[in-house]
Amino acid sequence: MRDTIKSNIFPNHILTHIPRSEHKLSRHNISQAALDVLYHLNQAGYQAFLVGGGVRDLILERVPKDFDIVTNAHPEQIKRLFKRCRLIGRRFLLAHVHVKSEIIEVATFRAPHDQSGHGSSKNGLIVRDNVYGSSVNDDAQRRDFTINAIYYDISDFSLFDYANGMADLRQGVIRLMGDPVLRYQEDPVRMLRAVRFSAKLGFSIHPETAAPIRQLSGLLSNIPPARLFEEVLKLFNTGHAAQSFEQMRTYDLFEQLFPYTERCLADPLAFSFIQQALDNTDKRKKNQDTIMPVFLFAVFLWLPLSRELPKKIVKGLNQQEILFNACQQLLAKQQKYVTIPRRFTVLMQDIWFLQIRLTHLRRGKKKTLSILEHPNFRAAYDFLKLRVKAGDEAVAEDLEWWDKFLSQHKKGHHTEFSAPTPKWSRRRQKSDR
Ligand code: ATP
Ligand code: MG
Repeated sequence: MRDTIKSNIFPNHILTHIPRSEHKLSRHNISQAALDVLYHLNQAGYQAFLVGGGVRDLILERVPKDFDIVTNAHPEQIKRLFKRCRLIGRRFLLAHVHVKSEIIEVATFRAPHDQSGHGSSKNGLIVRDNVYGSSVNDDAQRRDFTINAIYYDISDFSLFDYANGMADLRQGVIRLMGDPVLRYQEDPVRMLRAVRFSAKLGFSIHPETAAPIRQLSGLLSNIPPARLFEEVLKLFNTGHAAQSFEQMRTYDLFEQLFPYTERCLADPLAFSFIQQALDNTDKRKKNQDTIMPVFLFAVFLWLPLSRELPKKIVKGLNQQEILFNACQQLLAKQQKYVTIPRRFTVLMQDIWFLQIRLTHLRRGKKKTLSILEHPNFRAAYDFLKLRVKAGDEAVAEDLEWWDKFLSQHKKGHHTEFSAPTPKWSRRRQKSDR
């Protein structure tokens, strides 16, 4: 028998209780660490639920990325219960419970967001959100999509479906709870999340949830670039990069994060370069090959960078200096939208600098071997391959040369270096004549 409780904030939503006998979610697919935490909370007299992506993905028979737990225990009470526990976060105070090598995130129920505007900035953005709730009914109302508001109760293995999320899971629909405009104003990152879940699960975005996105996409400029960096990683490194990109462009979201890249996309060569890189990333993920998240950043920003370069050829400066200056300028501009940490920018610049060394420098044996020994040679060579695959014929001859060199190098032969004359010097030679 299913019980229902009416929601006090979203009148259309009804909390439905689904007993264990009426659903198929099995404990066996929950990580032991998450189960340990759930049981421990419960045995200490607290309510404890699995919620969010863990429940959603288990119902869909997918492997969850992580298991999020929610409880009526307050953070200090959680901390007292677990030996290895740290409280983290400013916007949300959360407990990170360490179980062997796993970290399980445990949050306290939150209260529905105060409609009086307490905790909001002028434009409706929630800046503080640490008012605790006392029940699933309270907590569920702050969550984003119906499919993310299903709770698994460890005390009797039943489910609480807050907003008909089970039906949306069956029908493949991403639907925000409540008024979409208000919900996006509260947290514009939900626009990116809508696109991400749609790309990841192959679900459609409900028309009412999709309708305001284009108009509100500019609100992303209110989000700290560091938070957007985390979102970008999730959008592009979890096996659905090509879909994320397509959907982001459909809803004008890509230009909010990478405006300089977006401006280059009318050029079919540029577009194809990105497309190939995204497809490659997804293929690697599918084959469980390692993914270098920095690679796509290098791809995205290569487009505006390489466009700028020819304009910047200044007498007296060498190509490395020109590239260095152009990198610094572009990265500084881009960081205003999405933070790119230093550990990434260093690598990106290596990949870009190596493009010049792979294609523009006169090759001698010593130089070639030193390029080969560069720690990021492989990434740079893959990058060059991608450029050619995307149709950049100007560097096809260079790639051919490297392919041949590498295959001979592997066999232990050392070729005499009859490299094609590099393009820029070819140009220079012509003009010298
Ligand atoms: P995955 O972990 O697979 O990326 P997820 O749904 O678990 O997906 P998380 O970012 O781990 O995503 O968030 C856990 C849960 O917290 C979500 O399912 C949702 O219920 C809630 N949540 C997260 N971010 C927001 C947000 N910006 N607004 C409202 N609720 C959110
Ligand atoms: Mg999660």
